Amino acid sequence: MLPLNTHPNIDISLLNNNKPLLVCDADEVIFDFMTSFESYLNDQNLFFSWKSYALEGNILDKNKKEIHKDFIKEIINDFFKANTGTMNLMNGAKKSLKKLSNTYNIIVLSNIPFDFYDDRLKALKKNNLDFSFYANKGPKGKVLKEIAQEFKNNIWFIDDSPLQIKSVQLAEKKIKTILYVGNSKLEKLIQYNKYWDYFSNKWKKNEEILLKME
Ligand SMILES: [Mg+2]
Repeated sequence: MLPLNTHPNIDISLLNNNKPLLVCDADEVIFDFMTSFESYLNDQNLFFSWKSYALEGNILDKNKKEIHKDFIKEIINDFFKANTGTMNLMNGAKKSLKKLSNTYNIIVLSNIPFDFYDDRLKALKKNNLDFSFYANKGPKGKVLKEIAQEFKNNIWFIDDSPLQIKSVQLAEKKIKTILYVGNSKLEKLIQYNKYWDYFSNKWKKNEEILLKME
């Protein structure tokens, strides 16, 4: 068990050392977060402004005024409470992950608040995505670095957040990263320095990259 800030602790002994490892984000990578989140906001008379690649600064009230950042946590918690079990999957995610699981160990590492761990685990199982699942808080680089110290086969990391990719790249250079942004409105907002090894906007392409390289 790795003593990290994840829930539960990551158990490396569950992994098959003869296969590489894919550490896969959940929101916007497996689950179609933005579509559900935007419709949740609209139901509350709130709006998403699509001005930047972040939640902070983009949630507007009915007068189109930015919601103060102190309220964002509450909005996110309410959203996950109501929607974790019913969010749709990103196009192609299920089919590609199933196929990739023949070649890779797969770990789902999601920054969902720990309170909704059980709901997300159930949603993954309901969709037949029965992979090891861990909830994380904050940058993922530290977790990936610890995994890389214990697990000796190749490691890949896929996330829709340029900041999470940067965190992993800076923490552990030998991990290969894919920035996957399946939502075209979000894709237009990417403006960070390029830390990722590969960029993709389709699961089919993720699959091709991952199967070609291993
Ligand atoms: Mg995400």
